[in-house]
Amino acid sequence: MELTEDQAAILRAVREFVDRDVLPAVAKYDKADEFPQPLYEQMVEMGLFGLTIPEEYGGLGLDLTTYAHVVAELSRGWISLTGILNTHFMAAWMIQSFGTASQKSELLPRMATAEMRAAYSMTEPGAGSDVQAIRTRAIRDENGWRMSGQKMWSTNGLRSSIVMLLAVTDPDAEPRHKGMTAFIARKQPSVNEQPGLTIPPNLKKLGYKGVETTELIFDNFRLSDDDVLGGSAGIGQGFKYFMAAVELGRVNVAARGVGVARCALEQAVRYAQERSAFGKKIAQHQAIQIKIAEMGTRLRAAELLTFDAARRKASGERADLEAGMAKLYATEAAAFCALEAMRIHGGYGYSQEFMVERLYRDAPLLILGEGTNEIQQLLIARRLIELHPA
Ligand SMILES: Cc1cc2nc3c(=O)[nH]c(=O)nc-3n(C[C@H](O)[C@H](O)[C@H](O)COP(=O)(O)OP(=O)(O)OC[C@H]3O[C@@H](n4cnc5c(N)ncnc54)[C@H](O)[C@@H]3O)c2cc1C
Repeated sequence: MELTEDQAAILRAVREFVDRDVLPAVAKYDKADEFPQPLYEQMVEMGLFGLTIPEEYGGLGLDLTTYAHVVAELSRGWISLTGILNTHFMAAWMIQSFGTASQKSELLPRMATAEMRAAYSMTEPGAGSDVQAIRTRAIRDENGWRMSGQKMWSTNGLRSSIVMLLAVTDPDAEPRHKGMTAFIARKQPSVNEQPGLTIPPNLKKLGYKGVETTELIFDNFRLSDDDVLGGSAGIGQGFKYFMAAVELGRVNVAARGVGVARCALEQAVRYAQERSAFGKKIAQHQAIQIKIAEMGTRLRAAELLTFDAARRKASGERADLEAGMAKLYATEAAAFCALEAMRIHGGYGYSQEFMVERLYRDAPLLILGEGTNEIQQLLIARRLIELHPA
């Protein structure tokens, strides 16, 4: 891909940041499951929280393709850094795309500087893949709206000051998704108990450490008319808005897969040239070379699918098929490469001393998040059949 000067400069800065500051520090934060405050501050300083926010609102105004490249580079260091960024990016994109003029002018400048950080919360204990099964309910009364219900797996749920929320506003609507509305809920960051909202302790996870994932329990949580994304025109449009954002999210999860696969390949290629067995470097054994060839080829295919989907989405073309394919392929490539890198490290790959142990724990999230890969397969097949009727 041809990069403009601005794109190349930001990517260079992110790559240097990952090599200099992230890779040497990641094991410490991962083991302690600690929020990486100094790394986060550098990301703010680089302008990453406003990367795609238009310049008129104080952002860098760069496109989705640049964002996907940045996500891949950051994920080469640690996917949790992109976890801190991604819900924020999706929320900013939703506000920019569907928000009212006052929602944009009030929120986007504060989001561009990360003064306000955002979460994105759709999933519930009883509704993950089946989004139309959500039960969180927002009821209009004389004082605005009150929301009750439970959200699950909200990444950045604690530290964020706004949460994009999907709730049922008309339970009798047919089809059901037409009775759903997106809200911009304002909350106090890092406060577990606040009026109408309880945030239980962070969920304990296999990997994806350092970035918090929480439940959000709403009990008559107050929202105003101004908190409806898109204002009165947005009532009943929430499902559509969230699904559009998920399509973007898929490109980003694909880019995370590219980053994890890159890191796994780098670690494997280096280790294979350092470790000896049977009188030669293991890189000279054909069995290891076959693994490296397969990893490199899958990584390359993942990159091409991902950046093609990003380019299509950035240019405004329909990209659901391409985003789904990129998400499916790149995340499976990441999991494959993480396991192969571990095999190449032999017993040491199972030790916390080596980075591949973390990659092996981090990679499966990509298969599950932003629509599981089984759901991607359904969507891809449906679209192909639609495009090629008998
Ligand atoms: C660490 C982490 C962070 C997350 N962050 C967020 C977040 O910030 N915001 C948010 O809203 N959500 C978030 N999620 C939720 C995530 O998007 C869901 O977990 C995911 O969509 C799957 O939903 P589920 O867990 O309810 O699984 P289910 O939907 O119960 O699926 C269980 C299994 O059934 C399969 N399945 C379901 N339906 C079908 C079907 N029709 N055909 C074939 N197979 C099917 C699935 O593929 C899966 O294998 C996060 C999840 C994790 C683990």
